[in-house]
Amino acid sequence: MGNRGRMSSQKPAVFLDRDGVINHDSPDYVRAWSDFAFRTGSLEALSIMASWDIYLFIVTNQSAIARGYLSVSELEQIHALMLESIRGAAGRIDRIYYCPHHPDQGCFCRKPQTGLFLEAARDYTLDPDHLFMIGDSASDMEAGKRFGCFTIMLESPRFNAEMTRLIGTGPRPDAIAPDLLAALPFLEQRLSQCR
Ligand SMILES: [Mg+2]
Ligand SMILES: [Zn+2]
Repeated sequence: MGNRGRMSSQKPAVFLDRDGVINHDSPDYVRAWSDFAFRTGSLEALSIMASWDIYLFIVTNQSAIARGYLSVSELEQIHALMLESIRGAAGRIDRIYYCPHHPDQGCFCRKPQTGLFLEAARDYTLDPDHLFMIGDSASDMEAGKRFGCFTIMLESPRFNAEMTRLIGTGPRPDAIAPDLLAALPFLEQRLSQCR
């Protein structure tokens, strides 16, 4: 078997940032379920992608833990309720990977580092030719590019500031979309190439 052939067990993967992609970001951090509000189109997009033969991961920086704004168990409670809502809307997330550290700790999991992606690659057999990162920040685009993803930047209140950061040092997003639902055609187009 040629090493360029796609192993039957390999699957494409979509890495999703959480805050600003699944739900609205908050300058005060999402500290409780009462702070969590789904973005328009995200539940519908997750329900559509749930029927595709791909992995769906959330990769999220949650420095609010290191800052003492919420505990690991409180974060996991938010995630349990989020997943319940996603499943209730016929959606699916295969695994959530989060970085609990402070930016000053210099860990390898906080985006734009790729530790969270590497965890997923250890846990699942990914198709290296069909990896996607959807985020709303420069660090999402940088992490996704480092891991070899096709990157999609979602528009948000921080869009102009984040794009300005990328113009200086970072990679241009491969695509830009107003919300998660509007990002799906970019995924469908590239996924159709591997079927
Ligand atoms: Mg974000
Ligand atoms: Zn970390």
